[in-house]
Amino acid sequence: MKWFYAEAGKQVGPVEESALDDLVRQGVVRDDTLVWREGMAAWQRHAAVRGSSPGQASAAPPLPAAPAAAPASAGYIRYCSECGRAFPASQLSTFGDVLVCGQCQPAYSQRLSGARQFGGFWIRFLAIIIDAIIIGVVSAIIRIPLGLAGLGVGLGLGRNPDPNQVLAAVPALMSLIGLSFFIQMALSLAYDVYFLTTKGATPGKMALGLKVTRADGGPISAGLAVARYFAKILSGLTLWIGFIIAGFDREKRSLHDHICGTRVVKVR
Ligand SMILES: [Zn+2]
Repeated sequence: MKWFYAEAGKQVGPVEESALDDLVRQGVVRDDTLVWREGMAAWQRHAAVRGSSPGQASAAPPLPAAPAAAPASAGYIRYCSECGRAFPASQLSTFGDVLVCGQCQPAYSQRLSGARQFGGFWIRFLAIIIDAIIIGVVSAIIRIPLGLAGLGVGLGLGRNPDPNQVLAAVPALMSLIGLSFFIQMALSLAYDVYFLTTKGATPGKMALGLKVTRADGGPISAGLAVARYFAKILSGLTLWIGFIIAGFDREKRSLHDHICGTRVVKVR
């Protein structure tokens, strides 16, 4: 249990329960010191909350106003990374790991977007081709046994072109094609998820100095990478219009970037 307490109109903490007990013994935290922990609706006098005299809570005089730096509201107290003032976490906006207060937020997000350069259609197109070549080569190697099996079936039919035999071979050929398709898809998915979560970009994008980020500039989680992979398939199903629209978007977003709230940015 983490506690905050007020000292000379400023909020101190978080401190552990045991540390708070020490502060009580040292006389730093007294009966009328305002304290707060997560789950409390407002700051309260120490005596009223931690019960040095339980009957006192209802008999206590009206609580003095909470310190200005820490509004009396539920939620963890956090600090704005721009102005350094304290706020309940619920009043701060998150940009990746950065917390910013309402007052600093417009300037901060403007600075953030101004600092970013987005990867346009053609450079991303090139990155996709590089990735497709890498995946194609690896996939072809993995699928050599399937190709040989298919060849075996074909040669068998060539020696014995009986219509019944040909029909009998259809399920085997279909499952080879299905398995081949599945391997290709699983490989592409693993490729995207692995590189996006560990490097922030596929090798094709890395080679061209591109990176995939969240809208706030934060890193891509495995779940988001999976979602983006399937959204990318959707972009392909729209006759590639989902990809092409990146060329006309202010932030160079493709359809899958719109769906997943991602951006492709230039890192150099
Ligand atoms: Zn601020």
